[in-house]
Amino acid sequence: MDLSRSQRVGVALREFGADFVCWYIPCTVVFWWVISWLQTWIETNSENPECQQCRVWLVYGSLFAWTWTLQAIYYMLGSCSWAQKFRITEGQHAKKLAQEYSLPDPKRWAESLSFKDILANSLKNQLIYFSLGMVMSLSPIQSTWFQRAGWHETESKVSLVQVLAELCYLLLFFDLLLGFSHYHLHVTFYKYHKDHHQTKGDSPLSGWYMTTLDLIMELWLPIFVPAFILGTSWQAFWIWLLLVEWDGVHSHAAFDFGYPMPSPKRHWLHHLQVQCNYSNGLFDAFLGTEAQKKELAPEIQFPTLLVRKSNRSQDAIKSVKTMD
Ligand SMILES: [Zn+2]
Ligand SMILES: [Zn+2]
Repeated sequence: MDLSRSQRVGVALREFGADFVCWYIPCTVVFWWVISWLQTWIETNSENPECQQCRVWLVYGSLFAWTWTLQAIYYMLGSCSWAQKFRITEGQHAKKLAQEYSLPDPKRWAESLSFKDILANSLKNQLIYFSLGMVMSLSPIQSTWFQRAGWHETESKVSLVQVLAELCYLLLFFDLLLGFSHYHLHVTFYKYHKDHHQTKGDSPLSGWYMTTLDLIMELWLPIFVPAFILGTSWQAFWIWLLLVEWDGVHSHAAFDFGYPMPSPKRHWLHHLQVQCNYSNGLFDAFLGTEAQKKELAPEIQFPTLLVRKSNRSQDAIKSVKTMD
């Protein structure tokens, strides 16, 4: 059934809302609680708790540790036999995907690049990503359209409601800007994006494997730019970086743990089908670029008269058989 653009956007907004309520809010509550506790501890134990450089180092240092902890966890899961039932490329998951979508032969789903092949490029990209972010966060000029970052403010605790509101618009802008950039990487700048498509969305580190232009368009633009133009508290920005990193690792690891964690199916399908699923949902709904399910063959309906005739002839056969 073909949906109109407004119906598609309605569906995407509902899915966005469900993911936000069921996944992002619970994760944010945990991160916010840990950060608030840490802030109180630093304020009581540090001589200079409002030091901007110290906070920036704390945010990016913890993000780097988080990035590699997630990599380690997902690669460990990849080597555990009990975790294979969650892989979308195995068993029932794979069978269902092959039934629903037109996909290449399962032999072509396997990753062609190893961890070693993508390590150097991924580290280069992390260096650019972290350095750019730190330079922007350390800049004396911070935008105040919506909220001051407050990196150097003494009283800089933020409420959970404020953090959630900030994350909500960061997620919305992320989807639209990621979709826009990613779509143009396919239609205009594909030679800068094809490196990323050498991977199949089936290894956790592959989310970092790309050219520098790809990194700027797909990660820096949607993750950092809205936060710096509209302005967010540094605590919300910290949580945002942690969540979006988890999203990147998870969507390239091909493990579907089910509700409430968002499925990596969208991005995995993008790696296999290429011309679809550029964003997390909203941009694709606007543009009509969602992955399409296979057309199911329509059930043949006999006209009523024919059905009656067919039933009558079957009844006649049955009565002859009983007479025998
Ligand atoms: Zn792509
Ligand atoms: Zn990817």
